[in-house]
Amino acid sequence: MAKRRRLEDRMRRVLHAFNYREVQTPTFEELELFTAKSGPGIRDELYAFKDKSGRDLALRPELTAPVMRFYFHDLKTEAKPLRLFYFGPCFRYDRPQAGRYREFWQLGVELVGDASAEAHAELLWLVLRVFQAAGLNDLELRVGHLAILRNRLDRLGFPQPDQGPLMRLIDKKDLEGLRKALEAKAPNAAVQEFLRLFETSRVDQLRLEPDAGTARRARDHIEAVLNHLGAFGADLARVRFDPTIARGLDYYTGLVFELDCPALGAQKQLLGGGEYDLSSVFEAPPVACTGFALGFDRTLVALEETAHALPAGERVDAYVASLAVTGTAPAQRVANALRDLDLRVELDLSARGAKKVLQRAAQLRARTAVLVGEREVERGVAAIKNLDTGEQLEAPLAEVGQRITPWLAAP
Ligand code: AMP
Repeated sequence: MAKRRRLEDRMRRVLHAFNYREVQTPTFEELELFTAKSGPGIRDELYAFKDKSGRDLALRPELTAPVMRFYFHDLKTEAKPLRLFYFGPCFRYDRPQAGRYREFWQLGVELVGDASAEAHAELLWLVLRVFQAAGLNDLELRVGHLAILRNRLDRLGFPQPDQGPLMRLIDKKDLEGLRKALEAKAPNAAVQEFLRLFETSRVDQLRLEPDAGTARRARDHIEAVLNHLGAFGADLARVRFDPTIARGLDYYTGLVFELDCPALGAQKQLLGGGEYDLSSVFEAPPVACTGFALGFDRTLVALEETAHALPAGERVDAYVASLAVTGTAPAQRVANALRDLDLRVELDLSARGAKKVLQRAAQLRARTAVLVGEREVERGVAAIKNLDTGEQLEAPLAEVGQRITPWLAAP
């Protein structure tokens, strides 16, 4: 938990710096919230159940739909753009394996009311900053746009309503299945040309027909986003164009992106996101929304796998011991005073000898030891020791905090 908290803390600081505000929603929702717009794939993944009144409910598999429910009920009139973030557990009836759990945590954001290239660039910049703060740098961000895929499928003779199963094959990178499904309707050469998208990694490699209007606009948008992202200071060598990002859920509409940690193998995807529209679920007019969710547990695994391990548990600031037959009262008072200074203090309650006390303090990796033995009490002082440097001195009982805080300020 110490490691999880530290990682959470680092990520929260970045979200705070970008002025994202936290929201929280219930762990379970009406089943329909998730089945309405996410596509059929979601049903198999859900923990769905009836409650005692026969209502159809589900444990949330993700938080975008719940946050949008909250938005359309309560936040619609807030000034735009609205920047929201969440951090909470999700549940999917998946087959558990390394990096894939049935209960896992997602941290994510939703940006409501601005779908400009500038806004999308800031969102991607936020993604990079969050992982930089986490201490992970060996990552690859891939950016695509659904209009490019949809336009191509359209040309192959698959109109939008028939594209769902194909998009899922693309999302799973099942190229054989995809080839078969496409060849059922389109000529070989056209299918080959389509599959070349999987080898495209730069925007300028994308071949567009003169009348591919939506795809052209999508390409221009991505180009603009990447330009703005560079202006923020992003290392564009780590950002790649990938026109084959399909995303698993049906509510995505435009820009889409994924972030991988190549060191992780099969479950290497740390984050996914994009532009989406859930307004029809709430019978509301459309509103521009873009968001992402990152797998918190998987990010921790990535940190451990890539040797960027988070430091072990928090250190004790002061180990305070009485040593004495005179009772623990003076040590208790010193501990109180230090705790009032917000220090992390462990009080030795066993009145053991100085050697044992220092052993215990070393075991705990305490930064300082404060000894209030019989001789010290008589003179109204405590012996204090900086366990990192070995420096030792005596301080009046009332001044222990004042003396040790400069030691604690050292990194
Ligand atoms: P998704 O909502 O499927 O786009 O997931 C966003 C991120 O959550 C993924 O990139 C993963 O890092 C993480 N994630 C998804 N499913 C699981 C799972 N079953 N266990 C752990 N992490 C997951």
